[in-house]
Amino acid sequence: MDAPAIVLLGPPASGKGTQGRLLAREEDLSYFSTGKQLRREMKAASPLGKEVEPYLAAGQYVPDELVLALAIGWIRKVKGGWVLDGFPRTLPQAEELDRVLGVDGARLRALLLEGPVAELERRVTDRRECTACPWTGTRVQAELSGGVCPTCGATLGQRHDDDLENFRQRLKAFEELTLPVASYYEQSGRLLRVWGVGSPEEVFQNVQSELA
Ligand code: AMP
Repeated sequence: MDAPAIVLLGPPASGKGTQGRLLAREEDLSYFSTGKQLRREMKAASPLGKEVEPYLAAGQYVPDELVLALAIGWIRKVKGGWVLDGFPRTLPQAEELDRVLGVDGARLRALLLEGPVAELERRVTDRRECTACPWTGTRVQAELSGGVCPTCGATLGQRHDDDLENFRQRLKAFEELTLPVASYYEQSGRLLRVWGVGSPEEVFQNVQSELA
């Protein structure tokens, strides 16, 4: 069977990271998050990190050519099936991905995670993540572990862009620039809609039944 190629679309805090990592673990796929990689670059103060910092701080998407270099570079190196979290987010990114995949683009599946705005806002203020590894959890989980990552022992914190004003900017960008990407995949019969409300395990069941 052909190796799966899955892209995750969804508004901020819709669970892309959580579902992407579950999917990667259960289906033995490689996982890449452009947002997480951009935050790493910022932390390392790399040239790319410095260039993208103002965009992330303002809740805006970074220019296509920067994200494309990151995501396509990763795809070219990866072996076997993969899941991309947060890419593509604009029509030019989706079109370029199809161009790179060629005939393999037909087997791509785009999962759109959906949920009500009030629930997304609640998650954004509640979300905590590890400064060193992919661990993501809630404020209560972070408090229970004394602010230390249960997976790797590094410090837990809040994403700099996880405040409500920034969230609303990111939601606006999603509606203006990423919903057209969902339509693009829908028109070619590659879009799967997943209801993203519930525990991570419940949502993951929805993901699996859509992909089955
Ligand atoms: P995320 O971690 O997926 O919520 O992404 C965090 C931020 O990184 C976004 O709000 C954007 O500023 C930027 N970003 C991540 N992926 C992309 C992308 N494919 N295109 C443009 N900007 C992106």
